[in-house]
Amino acid sequence: MPKIYLIDVTNRDGVQTSRLGLAKLEKTMLNIFLNEMGIYQSEFGFPVTRHETNYLNANLELAKMGVLKPIILEGWIRAISEDVQKAVTLTRVEHLNLSISTSSQMIRGKFQGRKTKKDIIQMMTEAVDLAREKGIKTIGVNAEDASRTQKDYLIEFALAAKEHGADRIRYCDTLGYDNPFTIYERVRLLAEKVQIPIELHCHNDLGMAVACSVAGAKAAIDAGVDAYINTTVNGIGERAGNADLVSVILAIKYSSGFKNKYILDERIDLSRAWKLAKYAAYAFGVPIPVNQPGVGANAFAHESGIHADGALKDRRNYELYDFEELGRGEPEIVETGRKITAGEYSGIKGFRNVYERLEIKFKNDKEASDILELVRYANVHTQKPLTEDELKFIARYPDIAKKIFTMKPLN
Ligand SMILES: [Zn+2]
Repeated sequence: MPKIYLIDVTNRDGVQTSRLGLAKLEKTMLNIFLNEMGIYQSEFGFPVTRHETNYLNANLELAKMGVLKPIILEGWIRAISEDVQKAVTLTRVEHLNLSISTSSQMIRGKFQGRKTKKDIIQMMTEAVDLAREKGIKTIGVNAEDASRTQKDYLIEFALAAKEHGADRIRYCDTLGYDNPFTIYERVRLLAEKVQIPIELHCHNDLGMAVACSVAGAKAAIDAGVDAYINTTVNGIGERAGNADLVSVILAIKYSSGFKNKYILDERIDLSRAWKLAKYAAYAFGVPIPVNQPGVGANAFAHESGIHADGALKDRRNYELYDFEELGRGEPEIVETGRKITAGEYSGIKGFRNVYERLEIKFKNDKEASDILELVRYANVHTQKPLTEDELKFIARYPDIAKKIFTMKPLN
């Protein structure tokens, strides 16, 4: 029975968003939280972008050490041989998604008459061939602007990708143009004709990213292949954003007619949702909207007479799912008195106080001052007080942390 898997693209689509970004430590923490939540794959960055190199290799090392396991770390590149070559030269990445535009609008509008539809397929298949030759384990091929691509051409493109050994096709609704009806019809046709697992990559320009993702996944499964929904934490992504991770999980689990019929990867642990959403909001500096599904401040709040009375009598009167399932309900302690934080100009006394509160002890003064140095660098990167999880990570994996913070321009 085919299933729905999740590929989170916050560390790629989320960070390429205008005016938003994450420090490499924050990207690393997101990978760790996504892994704890049982997410199948993280699109963890850009293997041909120089300032990503140390971060990517350090995270691949964490995978080898079993810290980032079983999550699959996959990089995004353009579907051209040059990018494949660069990716395998600069990093030890083993999983790649190769992206190229397939709509007439973009082929015309981007390549300005220099490339034909045939050229696009040739560039893509050459890149796939090279990726195979270089031993890449999973190859996803992204049809950018798939929702505005002529159906026959999209099928031809996907068949060529499959023939050359691609494992999946990413159907990109790059502009958020589809609605649940059109994406269902188009993905169903594509999946039936090509018989290859389909990734759904939906944007929220018309407010339908989650609905389209779920409808697209249903189409793939109805056609007998696995579906891989691309999500981002809190829906952060280009322009109006991507399909929100928590909303997608809730929609598959609880929307009418889906429960027990369309099976979500059973490793997913929704009880990590609250922590993950809060961390992403802090790291991006973008608060969670009060009305955000599942993790918004108002997601389980009731005030009006009839609603409050109904919810108190039986939560099922006004709640589809329980707050406990999302990891909510624990009271949060906020320090209102003196607080010592650790940052880029910290000294050893304050630093020790911070770690003592976390019940972390150092073997000797040397170890303490080494970690302090790393904590200073971490704060130079994040420019906000380090979270407990970040501080623990640095103390636990100092060698990895050092690599993540190291960035040196080539020239
Ligand atoms: Zn996108």
